[in-house]
Amino acid sequence: KLSVMPVIDQELTRLIDKVCYDVYHESMPSSIDVARKRDTLNFLQRYVTVLFPDATLTLFGSSMNGFGLKNSDMDISLTFLSCSTGAELPDGALSSLFKHMKKCRDLKKLIYVPFAKVPIIKFLHVPSNLEGDISLYNVLAQENTKLLAAYSEIDERVKIMGYLVKKFAKVCNVGDASKGSLSSYCYILMMLYFLQRCSPPVIPVLQALPESTEPLPRKIVESCNVYFYEDIASLSKVWPHHKKNVKSPGQLWIEFLRFYTEEFDSENYVVSIRSTELVLKLEKRWFTKVFAIEDPFVHDRNLGSGLTRKMNLYIIKAFRSARSLFTSKLKATGKQSLVGVY
Ligand code: ATP
Ligand code: MG
Repeated sequence: KLSVMPVIDQELTRLIDKVCYDVYHESMPSSIDVARKRDTLNFLQRYVTVLFPDATLTLFGSSMNGFGLKNSDMDISLTFLSCSTGAELPDGALSSLFKHMKKCRDLKKLIYVPFAKVPIIKFLHVPSNLEGDISLYNVLAQENTKLLAAYSEIDERVKIMGYLVKKFAKVCNVGDASKGSLSSYCYILMMLYFLQRCSPPVIPVLQALPESTEPLPRKIVESCNVYFYEDIASLSKVWPHHKKNVKSPGQLWIEFLRFYTEEFDSENYVVSIRSTELVLKLEKRWFTKVFAIEDPFVHDRNLGSGLTRKMNLYIIKAFRSARSLFTSKLKATGKQSLVGVY
């Protein structure tokens, strides 16, 4: 069935590349967007300090991981200088903060979600029109933010692919984890996994570098090893494949779609960006038929655990449609924006 896919000629590749760069440039936050986020964070920091003088707000998630879109939300972790871990926190810190935030004229759509896996306060900052959420001691998320940021620094194509897959998830309605789908964090991990495994690889497994160092260094945060090779500027010294893959973003995008529709055996294997070895669902005792995505630091956490079978099929169908649209219809219609294609 797949062999009838049209051969991608040079003209089509150029067109797909243009779509990739268009999406990238349209979605990238401008310096004004970045400044707006910084000012909003400073405002919140000042406001929160009135209640908790030793509070620190730290941005994480896509605002800091290199894959932030223009209108991405603000993910904020609240910590206190006087408490080194969340376990030492006095009860009710988040609910007191919620009451305090309700008094602020500039904050609207305030929602306190106390019983979630990670309790949060959601808000809209009216003057900047930025939405976000505040969680307590989300330290591992701060670490995975740094890991993703390091990957995004390796090559511009990593960022382009990240923006494309996020846009794809949004346009195809497959990016809302609260509706049985996958989060944008999951899609970024799927993209990184593909870029580690394409030939030659575009990115290494940073958590397994330098290959010659045995044992690898360890850095423990909340009982997890969050070590990864951070010196991206010196990557060529420790990774022989650096810059060997010279494919264009469009070629990589089509290969990505092919990888997840044809090559990757999602019934038996796990999307795992921390390992150079293939990871079997069986060895993790994850008896699921749908995509399983391993958290890079919390190895027993399947980030795809909320994915329904129906949605899994729908996601694969979306990958297939995207692949056939990009390799045939795009040329026929001449449409040059991803949204236009859909
Ligand atoms: P977006 O631009 O769509 O907001 P994002 O990467 O910020 O992308 P969020 O859903 O806002 O995605 O999540 C914020 C951050 O929280 C992620 O970047 C990741 O660091 C962390 N995170 C999200 N979901 C999980 C999860 N299930 N387990 C661990 N960390 C998570
Ligand atoms: Mg976010």
